[in-house]
Amino acid sequence: MNTPLIDPFARAITYLRVSVTDRCDFRCVYCMSENMTFLPKADLLSLEELDRLCSVFIGLGVQKLRITGGEPLVRKGILTFFQRMSRHLASGALKELTLTTNGSQLERYAPQLAACGVRRINVSLDTLDPAKFARITRWGRLPQVLDGIAAARAAGMRVKINAVALKGVNEDELFTLTDWCAQGGHDLTFIEVMPMGDLGNEDRLDQYWSLKDLRARLAARFTLTDLAERSGGPARYVRLEETGQKIGFITPLTHNFCESCNRVRLTCTGELYMCLGQEDMADLRAPLRASADNAVVEQAIRSAIRHKPKGHDFDYSRQTVAGQVTRHMSHTGG
Ligand code: SAM
Ligand code: SF4
Repeated sequence: MNTPLIDPFARAITYLRVSVTDRCDFRCVYCMSENMTFLPKADLLSLEELDRLCSVFIGLGVQKLRITGGEPLVRKGILTFFQRMSRHLASGALKELTLTTNGSQLERYAPQLAACGVRRINVSLDTLDPAKFARITRWGRLPQVLDGIAAARAAGMRVKINAVALKGVNEDELFTLTDWCAQGGHDLTFIEVMPMGDLGNEDRLDQYWSLKDLRARLAARFTLTDLAERSGGPARYVRLEETGQKIGFITPLTHNFCESCNRVRLTCTGELYMCLGQEDMADLRAPLRASADNAVVEQAIRSAIRHKPKGHDFDYSRQTVAGQVTRHMSHTGG
């Protein structure tokens, strides 16, 4: 058997996130500027190439695959890719195949995703107010997303809601969102806004609402019990004793949990980012296209993992944005 992927800080890499497109049908204010320039389609890896790369990673011990973007469900032919990846679930090599989506195309795709073995999905939803939703996403419509979530539930998938905490935007919806998730049986994770990519006129510090504050407000109404559960990622979880629901906090700014990071990220052009918050990357497209021999690709992956950094350097504590990376989140995949 192949030796597993272990990085220089003794972290086993078992989780791959794949951004299958940098394009999106929304323009969320914290993620993109209104006028985005996207990659030329010719630069993208084909779905066959993505299949080959992901399969090599799975051969090297990756057990969880999350498909993301941009909006993964706007990539043409994406269902075929899910269908192909499901063979790794059937063989037992892959423990989980999942996706992060804005939900706009879910109504159409949910039954077929479920048929491919997708059991749990993350849907990004920052507000339940239609007008606010339109302001945050610029191009999105809330009813379409809510219908998508309902379709996912009807197809038997669990839905976790991801909400970016936005100062002065969804602060007043903390309890509305929490209650709505409790009623629908959704777990809910809050995310601190990260300094990634140029946003045009938007200012990160204006957007940033610390989860330390959010958690304190939750604790004023609910009894919070810390859970030991870890996903090997940056989220930490509590249970709300009054409702039994699980709430996650992704706090790259107020608390950095890089020491337990188990993931790397592949972009739609075959760049492998070892850390979301650093610029270092390895090009896997060249070795992939240079040889039909997967051993060449494996070597490139192993060599990249040897350079996985200790963590990111995001910091707003001096009232300035430090550690900013130039890539948008939609490039690397959230
Ligand atoms: N389009 C899909 C979606 O929105 O779920 C998948 C890609 S999106 C880049 C993945 C996640 O990143 C979303 O939950 C989004 O809210 C989050 N995100 C985007 N930009 C962010 C930023 N600057 N800081 C924190 N989270 C961000
Ligand atoms: Fe699109 Fe997701 Fe970025 Fe919003 S957060 S613009 S839905 S990629």
